[in-house]
Amino acid sequence: MARVFSGIKPTGNLTLGNYLGAMRRWVEVDQHQADAVFCVVDLHALTVEHDPARVRRLSRQAATLLLAAGLDPELCTVFVQSHVDEHARLSYVLECVATDGEMRRMVQYKEKAARERERGGSVRLSLLTYPVLMAADILAYGTDEVPVGDDQRQHVELTRDLAVRFNQRYGHTFVVPRATHPVVAARVMNLQEPGSKMGKSDDSGPGIVYLLDEPDVVRKKVMRAVTDSGQGVVYDRAERPGVANLLEILAACTGGNPEDLAAVYDSYGALKKDTADAVVDILKPVQARHRELCADPAYVEGVLRVGAEKARGMARPIVDTAYRAIGLLPPV
Ligand code: ATP
Ligand code: MG
Repeated sequence: MARVFSGIKPTGNLTLGNYLGAMRRWVEVDQHQADAVFCVVDLHALTVEHDPARVRRLSRQAATLLLAAGLDPELCTVFVQSHVDEHARLSYVLECVATDGEMRRMVQYKEKAARERERGGSVRLSLLTYPVLMAADILAYGTDEVPVGDDQRQHVELTRDLAVRFNQRYGHTFVVPRATHPVVAARVMNLQEPGSKMGKSDDSGPGIVYLLDEPDVVRKKVMRAVTDSGQGVVYDRAERPGVANLLEILAACTGGNPEDLAAVYDSYGALKKDTADAVVDILKPVQARHRELCADPAYVEGVLRVGAEKARGMARPIVDTAYRAIGLLPPV
């Protein structure tokens, strides 16, 4: 059975982009068809200016939402990254095969570093090295497939490069993983700025639909989405990104395809109304289950405790092998 690994950062409230781009696949496909491991990658949330209490709250909330979305601990492993030391242990070793030039070429580093500077902050070294920790997250589990949104393509490529380089220099140690992306809505765009990805750590605003938004808030955000000046509803990501985004969201929520849906609508208003209804419908069961789980924090904690134990058992032998291979003396 293929090993699947993926994660989500507790940097903000989870968004519709996280759900359609990643989580839904994990729930509907991966946990059934693969030996799947899902992680709240809290160490990654420390790479930008953060408030410790908020990161703790968001970590708990992200874990709860993963379960609310339908991850079943009987079928897959769910845990918090910082509970398993092997991630940090392996990350250091991989820093010894990665180069600083490689890190500086990462698009997300450039974007996030620029944003930190704009906010008047300094850029943490961990923001630069973050893709190496992500590579460690993936490689520590002998991962075959990494189901992620389109924005993570470059980081998974880097992970592959590091795995191949390590294997060539120090002997076969790591499985070389590949990224998988959803067919539609692999990159959900901000409803107010359809040129930018909907991201949970972006300044919150009317362009981002959060998984825990009330139905009337979702409706308002979708009805106010920026559309394009052209006439008629056509699916054209390059020329008509606002409408294309709505069509992709609607297609992802209803199981249709964006080209066919474009032919069904002759007004933006009707498209927005149906898209809003479809998003509300898809979020409703997740929100209901989230409320139930919030009333039972001991259950969520139990899942995370067992998940971390299982994860340690999977990762330790692989990380130990990497330590030996690169030249570290086994403990005596
Ligand atoms: P941040 O702004 O802190 O980077 P994020 O919203 O990008 O947050 P991540 O935790 O970085 O979320 O990513 C979790 C998963 O969600 C990844 O698989 C990522 O590819 C996917 N994802 C994030 N945003 C989108 C989006 N707008 N469309 C599709 N998938 C997305
Ligand atoms: Mg991201």
